[in-house]
Amino acid sequence: MLTLKNVSKSYHPKKGKVVQALKDVSLSFTETGMVFLLGKSGSGKSTLMNIIGGLDNTDQGEVIFLNKQVSSFNQSEYDAYRNTQVGFVFQEFNLIESFSVYQNIALSKRLQNQEVTREEVVNLLETLDLKDEIDRMPYELSGGQKQRISIGRALIKNPKILLADEPTGALDSDTSKQIFELLKSLSKSRLVIIVSHDRDFATAYGDRVIELSDGKVIKDSNPIEPMETNQHMDLKTPHLPLKDAFMIGLSAFLKKPVRMVITMLILIFSFTLYGFLDSITNYSIDDVVIKQAYLAGQKTITISRTPEIGLFVSEMPSNFGQSQFDQLQSKYPNRFMRPVYEKRYFLSTVSNPTQDSSYYPYKTSGLIYIDNDLLAKTGYSIIGRLPQNEFEVVIPLHLVETYQKDGYIIDDEIFEINQPTDLLGKQLFNYTDLIIVGIIDTHFNKERYLPYVESSDGETKWLLREELDAINDNSPHTFLYVHKTYLDQLLNQSNYLSFGNSRLFKYDEPNKDLEETYQSNDTFMIDFKIIKTDSIPNDVIFKPGVDMDGLTENQIIIGIDTLDFWLMAKPFPDFYPLYEVLFEELVQNYANENYETYKDDLASLDQIYTKAEFVLALRDFNYFNALESSPSYALEHNAMNQASITVILNDSRTTTMATSFQYGLRGSRISVFDIEIVGFYQGAFSLVNQSFYEQIQQQTGAYPYRSVLVNLTGNMNNDIAFLHSVRKLGVSYEVTNEIEYMMSYNDNSMVFMQSMIIWVSLVIAIFASILFHNFIHISISNKKKDIGILRALGSRKVDIFRIFLSEVLFMSLIITILSLIFTTISIHYLNDFVLDYLNLDIDLFWVELKQVVSILTLTILVSTLSSWLPIHRYSKQKPVDVIKIIES
Ligand code: ADP
Ligand code: MG
Repeated sequence: MLTLKNVSKSYHPKKGKVVQALKDVSLSFTETGMVFLLGKSGSGKSTLMNIIGGLDNTDQGEVIFLNKQVSSFNQSEYDAYRNTQVGFVFQEFNLIESFSVYQNIALSKRLQNQEVTREEVVNLLETLDLKDEIDRMPYELSGGQKQRISIGRALIKNPKILLADEPTGALDSDTSKQIFELLKSLSKSRLVIIVSHDRDFATAYGDRVIELSDGKVIKDSNPIEPMETNQHMDLKTPHLPLKDAFMIGLSAFLKKPVRMVITMLILIFSFTLYGFLDSITNYSIDDVVIKQAYLAGQKTITISRTPEIGLFVSEMPSNFGQSQFDQLQSKYPNRFMRPVYEKRYFLSTVSNPTQDSSYYPYKTSGLIYIDNDLLAKTGYSIIGRLPQNEFEVVIPLHLVETYQKDGYIIDDEIFEINQPTDLLGKQLFNYTDLIIVGIIDTHFNKERYLPYVESSDGETKWLLREELDAINDNSPHTFLYVHKTYLDQLLNQSNYLSFGNSRLFKYDEPNKDLEETYQSNDTFMIDFKIIKTDSIPNDVIFKPGVDMDGLTENQIIIGIDTLDFWLMAKPFPDFYPLYEVLFEELVQNYANENYETYKDDLASLDQIYTKAEFVLALRDFNYFNALESSPSYALEHNAMNQASITVILNDSRTTTMATSFQYGLRGSRISVFDIEIVGFYQGAFSLVNQSFYEQIQQQTGAYPYRSVLVNLTGNMNNDIAFLHSVRKLGVSYEVTNEIEYMMSYNDNSMVFMQSMIIWVSLVIAIFASILFHNFIHISISNKKKDIGILRALGSRKVDIFRIFLSEVLFMSLIITILSLIFTTISIHYLNDFVLDYLNLDIDLFWVELKQVVSILTLTILVSTLSSWLPIHRYSKQKPVDVIKIIES
């Protein structure tokens, strides 16, 4: 069955001479029987055994087992050979210390991918007289018992060859005898080769005794010739079933000592810290807004256009026009979007409104047209019906609360409003024909804001007031819902740009700080209402030298009614002297023209007896009973007009127009233009050409729409992704609602904090990974012996890997789960703390799937890599070397 032909083996130790352990050994063995190998220490017995058992290879010669060349096996064939054909019994037993007797024996069979029942093991142990020891641990057993277990472990595989290298070397002679008897009985059905020192036992039990000396066979009691056999070896590579690897891993895991618990605690702490910090870096204002909206049962959010960054452009959102809205909608064709027209109405039919209570709005915050599509997409319900023409409107339920509190008044008659339906059919305004035909429920979050009315806690009130003000500034709860034709008419009418409190100033030094100039007194106010025109009015007073029939870009004709004369003194020092001269001139002229006519009345009614006295009284802005008026005011106005026109038109410096466009609550945005004032005319509008008009509109954002109503889809992540996405458009949009308004106070500091924390959490993640890696590495190094044993038993590298991996994966799982639990708890406290600190009433941080995934990925990745590396290293060595390390 087994034949060795001219086998030689030499060792090349790193230090010292080459050792010839076997020299040209040729031997043949039969299929059964007990063969003893005798010889002095160092004679090559173990070397021969290892070569037969496939633990080591030969330098020269052949080992032939069942017609197969063992000596030319590859790694996996060796594994299969050891696993299925050979059973090993070592002097040092080599049981896996952390496994029970049962597990040690069962493992051996499982490594062959064979099922093993407890009964089977019990039966085997019975023959070894060890039945009662089945659940004991190796360290609880005596040497003889251990050796019998190790024989049992070999036997359960039912190997063709049983190899025992000095199996009794560590046992007393009585125990040795029992072992030899056991082996003898086993040799009836298989080949048993035993290395021994003991010549007496060898001659007593051995069917054949071979003696080695100095690597050579010097005696053979019963030599046999090589024989032909037609048996063949099945070299299918067996493997440990995953389930068993898993179970072995689990049981090993459960037996871990204190050190592991401590390491796990440190790791849990690190990963908790990582998860904690990571969830801070996850913070985004969009997430907060969407989550809060869902918590509050909101169906929509509003988004606004963010400002283009430039000089004088503050952080205020921009308005936008129809074409910009169309662009946005076309990017998200499946999402319901509707623009909100920038128009606020004072609710004149609220009786005696409590203007200081932010909970009860008495103004609308925007106009939006309503139809069935809006109802369907937002899920809002309506009491009454939709408007059918431009004279019908729908108001939000939240506005009804104001009427319920304050009452409804029309033509001095007050009505009590109890039900929302009480408002149906009523006029919305005193003097406009707008009839309320429906009440829309926009899911105003009463629960959240009622404490503002009811609570006396100043802090709570302040916080909720801020949010309520934002709701009153721009939200579906305060929009006015109109018929589309109503909105279309408004859009057609508003063909002028209106900028209250704009300024004109001189800007003649290019390096001078524009903002400084703007803030200085060197400016004067003007209420610009700008229209585009192609035709120039007849009464224009042009700047000297200008004579024109059309305006070019940056030219403007100012409507004189928009000037505020009193503010012109600073930028134009010659204004007042000129005005005084002109006023004097006009007074004189007026006196010259009118004195004679009113002479008698002036004397009798006003006690004015000369023209000089009349002039004096005109200068003093006196009231004249004779004239039933004071003409001085008209004269003054006239003088100022002329003076302004003269000083402005004669000034050669560039004039800069700074317009500020209001964005509701959020303030205004200032844009500047270099303009050329080419003239004045009597009017309330200032005139520019078409392209300048468009440029002003674009730069100031003076468009009709101020926000977009967007539906929430019911899928929170989807909506968050949408907000992230609109932020990244070329011209971006972002959410603007009450929550965002509150958060925007702190968003910058949050973003700053995040950028720091990202690095810290990265460092912690790396630290935790290294720690985990080290732990696994050390644990596996400590298991080097087990790896060697498993290799000697014929398990493949990948099986060993599976066992250890499933063990560390258990650890990873527990670490991940506990870390996440602690992260969640700590995030809860962080929320409380931050909200307290920031004076907010909303949750900012959440543990997200991302954290779960990242911690799990990290632990699994580290476990896998950290297990693989040492296992790969230890199993790369020949089993014999690993065993030798163990034995020495
Ligand atoms: P025995 O088992 O009969 O005591 P061995 O087969 O273990 O003898 O050893 C035979 C010879 O080979 C000895 O001189 C031993 O020192 C040497 N030897 C065995 N294994 C190695 C090895 N891995 N490296 C170097 N020398 C070795
Ligand atoms: Mg030896």
